[in-house]
Amino acid sequence: VFYVIGSGPNGVAAAAAALDEGRPVTMLDVGQTLEPDRLAEVHRLQVLPRSDWPAETLARLQGPSSTANGDLPLKRAYGSTFPYAFEEMARDSQQGTRCLQSFAQGGLSTVWGAAVLPSRERELVNWPSAATDLQASYASVARLMPLAAAVDELRESFPLYGPTLPALRPSRQAALLLEQLRSSKTALGDAGITFGQSRLAVRSVPAAEGSCQYAGLCLTGCPHFAIWSSRDTLRQLHARPGFTYRDGLRVDELDVTKQHGVVIRATSSSGQRLSFDAERVLVACGPLATARLLLHSLRAYGQRRTLAYQPYFLLPMMAARSVRGVENEALHTLAQVFLEIDNPAISPYAVHLQVYTYNPLIGARVERLARLMGPLARPVKRYLNGRLLAVQGYAHSTEAEGITLVAQPNGGDGRPRLELRGLAAAAPVVARTVRLLAEMRRAIGAGPLTTLMEIGLPGDGNHCGGTFPMRDTPGELESDITGQLPRLPGVHVVDSSVLPSLPATTFTYTVMANADRIARTVARSART
Ligand SMILES: Cc1cc2nc3c(=O)[nH]c(=O)nc-3n(C[C@H](O)[C@H](O)[C@H](O)COP(=O)(O)OP(=O)(O)OC[C@H]3O[C@@H](n4cnc5c(N)ncnc54)[C@H](O)[C@@H]3O)c2cc1C
Ligand code: SF4
Repeated sequence: VFYVIGSGPNGVAAAAAALDEGRPVTMLDVGQTLEPDRLAEVHRLQVLPRSDWPAETLARLQGPSSTANGDLPLKRAYGSTFPYAFEEMARDSQQGTRCLQSFAQGGLSTVWGAAVLPSRERELVNWPSAATDLQASYASVARLMPLAAAVDELRESFPLYGPTLPALRPSRQAALLLEQLRSSKTALGDAGITFGQSRLAVRSVPAAEGSCQYAGLCLTGCPHFAIWSSRDTLRQLHARPGFTYRDGLRVDELDVTKQHGVVIRATSSSGQRLSFDAERVLVACGPLATARLLLHSLRAYGQRRTLAYQPYFLLPMMAARSVRGVENEALHTLAQVFLEIDNPAISPYAVHLQVYTYNPLIGARVERLARLMGPLARPVKRYLNGRLLAVQGYAHSTEAEGITLVAQPNGGDGRPRLELRGLAAAAPVVARTVRLLAEMRRAIGAGPLTTLMEIGLPGDGNHCGGTFPMRDTPGELESDITGQLPRLPGVHVVDSSVLPSLPATTFTYTVMANADRIARTVARSART
């Protein structure tokens, strides 16, 4: 039996691939879920027309829109923080970094932004060449998760692999932006900027059950569950012969023995110690939990590892043209437009920008600002809401020195704690990107509000990995092209921990494709 640890996107991608290849799979997972009272409230909303949703229920399910110091709060799902493993995170120290861990059923995909784009081969820097052919795996993953995508300008550089659903309807602000970008296509192309409608893992077939109804709550939890999370795929896996799921189990250690293959040692939620004999183990706990598990299993304490991350920034932009009434528009509030910058003066690799138009978080910030304006509050609100855009930007991991990660043996319960230390975030690539956006403001039809930009700490943006990078000839704490470390034969890491570098053009789709590739390769070789 193949064991898969974790039910996040990479766990389900690996499990589905191993099942496809005829291997029985048991998935072990901590598997925390949304509190039942919150879930019941979501179900009550679903049967009511949008106009009848009680304000107090909505407020509870949306959670706070700011923290005490005015910062954006941690993204919640239906007002809940269940996606985050706070207790686990508390045992670790983070100096100058902000990295997350999840013990949720569905992992961080229960709260993700669903932005999906494949990586081009040339962005897979330092990857062993035998690991870079991901086309078939992108197509396999596209069969697992819905992919709402337009056939537009992005297609030339970023092909659509596998089946797609119709693109979501862009907001009116996004439609205006796309129209402007199309009218400046040549000038933008000369600056190395391509663009297109965002590609999103969202069920988008109009009027189909469970499809997007433009309720506008995407950033706080979709009441129609139209945004894909790997729980959706987990539900489908339950129906497949050979698949077993066991939640309430935290895997603590992997022990490779001659007699039993790999012995998995786990602790149940009631504190019971359990062990399982596995033919192969596919590890998909997310980069920090995977590092804890592997470094503990190898007793590799005190050794410095590097956790790569994508430099991240959040930049408000002001559009030249305004759209009225956005506050009452039926729209989705995920990324609306992707801009890809391929310009060697900015970075040798693509910088990926996701543009968001009006959403309740922008509305709440504008509201707070407008309150200071006294009698001018209303016109200020109207002016800003109809023009403000928010851009999330990501650069290639080679643009930043990675986070230092060390496991120490004294976590209190026999398991290690992790020490993370980050250097100041990589400002040069961000500064170059923002300068280019300012130069291109006419072509884009919007200019950056540079003084309001926030540059993320290392780990912000939630795209980290590369602790045990794949190599043609792996060292002691590196992996081969099936994510296997020399001293842990039979254990294959399938999450971002094995990426030799992290391309900026979204993240999870490529990691899932790599998980699919590894699981298929291992399943096929185990059969022969
Ligand atoms: C707010 C937010 C927005 C994001 N938006 C995007 C986006 O738009 N596009 C994108 O590409 N990516 C996005 N991401 C990143 C994306 O969510 C992650 O890349 C992805 O979830 C990683 O998948 P994973 O399967 O490796 O791990 P995770 O999702 O972290 O799941 C880990 C799984 O392992 C289990 N687990 C952990 N440790 C153990 C253990 N010891 N024993 C047993 N089980 C264990 C957990 O229960 C969980 O099921 C976002 C992330 C966040 C937080
Ligand atoms: S707009 Fe967002 S919250 Fe509303 S149904 Fe669509 S995906 Fe869900």
